[in-house]
Amino acid sequence: MAEETIQRVLKQYYGHTAFRPGQEELIQGILAGRDALGVMPTGGGKSLCYQIPALLLPGLTLVVSPLISLMKDQVAALEEAGIPAAFLNSSLDGEAFRRVCREIHRGAYKLLYVAPERLLSEGFAAMMGEQPIAQVAVDEAHCISQWGQDFRPSYLKIRDFLAGLPQRPVVSAFTATATAEVQEDILTQLGLQDPVKVVTGFDRPNLFFDVRRPEKKQPLLLSLVEARREKSGIVYCATRAGVEKVCDLLCQQGIPATRYHAGLSEAERRQNQDDFQYDRKTVMVATNAFGMGIDKSNVGFVIHYNMPKSLEAYYQEAGRAGRDGEPAECILLYGQGDVTTAQFFLQQSGENHEALTPEQAAQVQYRDQLRLEDMVAYCKTKACLRGKLLDYFGQAHPAACGHCGNCRGEFVTEDITRQAQIVLSCIQRIHRKLGYHVGVSLLTKVLRGSRDRRVLSLGLDSLSTYGLLKGESADQIRQYLETLEGAGYLRTETEHSTLRFTERTGEVLFQGATVTMTHRKTEPLPAKGKAPKPAKAPQADEALLDRLKKVRVRVAKEAGLPLYLVFSNATLADMARRRPRTLEEFLEVSGVGEVKAEKYGPAFLRALAVYEEGEV
Ligand code: ADP
Ligand code: MG
Ligand code: ZN
Repeated sequence: MAEETIQRVLKQYYGHTAFRPGQEELIQGILAGRDALGVMPTGGGKSLCYQIPALLLPGLTLVVSPLISLMKDQVAALEEAGIPAAFLNSSLDGEAFRRVCREIHRGAYKLLYVAPERLLSEGFAAMMGEQPIAQVAVDEAHCISQWGQDFRPSYLKIRDFLAGLPQRPVVSAFTATATAEVQEDILTQLGLQDPVKVVTGFDRPNLFFDVRRPEKKQPLLLSLVEARREKSGIVYCATRAGVEKVCDLLCQQGIPATRYHAGLSEAERRQNQDDFQYDRKTVMVATNAFGMGIDKSNVGFVIHYNMPKSLEAYYQEAGRAGRDGEPAECILLYGQGDVTTAQFFLQQSGENHEALTPEQAAQVQYRDQLRLEDMVAYCKTKACLRGKLLDYFGQAHPAACGHCGNCRGEFVTEDITRQAQIVLSCIQRIHRKLGYHVGVSLLTKVLRGSRDRRVLSLGLDSLSTYGLLKGESADQIRQYLETLEGAGYLRTETEHSTLRFTERTGEVLFQGATVTMTHRKTEPLPAKGKAPKPAKAPQADEALLDRLKKVRVRVAKEAGLPLYLVFSNATLADMARRRPRTLEEFLEVSGVGEVKAEKYGPAFLRALAVYEEGEV
């Protein structure tokens, strides 16, 4: 297909002037009739890669997507852009369902979104057999892999569905999960034939990453959210109870927060999600159940109140910030309890394993354990955080990004030789006395001189190292242990998490080796305004931007749409910079396509004109 054609479609329907990395190659491949696999980070722009071919190819594109809640918005966004689309899922009542089916028969749509379960229905398969199907696009394709973290057995049926069609359409698959084995699995399970394969970089330069390790999380969370009042954000918690507690805490402080977790009724979840989506509530407190279903582009921060179970999960959740390309922050609050909670969840996560043999299940569990360890290493590292993430996804990067908590933080190095000697000799004495190895919590109690029953009944209060670190917090002692482990003087035996000596422990105990511990002294501050701006364009006038946002609120209300579906923040910022005067100039604004220009242009142009007048 001619390059100008797809460029024109990009501008006409989406209002963008340039493709992002990988998009054009995938689009060209699909248009040439080849299967495709696109691996791009969250917010990388995967949707366009199947939507533009859908527009240009004769016939229907079927989009398989795992979450029903996402479909409504995706279809609304397409309709806004002037692209005929629909979805078929259980949220439609009988009447609406039949109407969509009639329209499908009429060939009214370019795109049809369905959940994978739908493909299993005979009625649906029969209906699709009667349609010219140009493309089947599989979104969130990692759900097909048992090695991925969101395995959905119904994805495995896509292949049968394809085989049952009278003619094999082009099959395209998209995911943000980068590991090689998941990619391989997607190719084989879907049966992709000689696909164009594009794996783009995973870096998200507009995201600022940080990890904090506070003594107490609640006050830190409050101050973080308080300082970001004008922004919309998500706070992820590990459990439903955590969501309730944190949401109450924020509400008590007068922060407009709402909540989302699987324990709420369907109606309440929908209501709360809408409140967030439409910016009636600015903070969403949620478990990871609030996930793939969210497609809000103006999320300014994602705070993890607890550590997730893997870096894939973390990057995906954190990546929901800043989809509009504006600077955004991803902050993780790490505490020791998080590791315990994550372990617990891993042990519980048997449900998805039903389809597996016991050996496969054991292997999945083992990989989950390794993933968790990588996640913990991210929380503890003193190196560049972005670098850690990119390492995990196998992407090369500079040693320091200059734009994460660790690159921005100030570190101090302390000599902890004395504490190290106390800790190690205490471990040695406990072992001598009991004849077996113990773990962190008992050791900590002995070092802090605890009157705990177990300590006393084992007679550990008689050791000469008992109470030698009385003044120190449990977390402080844990950091000594981590430092010793990191330096190779100590190790944790994996099965029972007991502390063991290494061949190098003697260097500290007997040969006078110095032990130092480095920790971050300052809270890095993202030095507002210094964040790398995606565009080199001059700053937008804040007052004007404010006006434009007000117009967006009004227009969105009239149209019954979420704000970001009218125009993204990035589009408003570009509008404020360019200050278009005519509809033609308005079309130049990034993110303004023809349909939207016609629909919303007059309201915004009027506001711009009034503003200019007031200025002179
Ligand atoms: P993904 O599915 O990869 O997470 P989306 O397809 O939802 O990402 O796109 C994320 C955001 O990027 C959307 O707001 C979209 O409008 C925007 N976007 C996509 N492609 C481009 C482009 N070529 N230029 C500018 N913005 C784009
Ligand atoms: Mg997507
Ligand atoms: Zn960095």
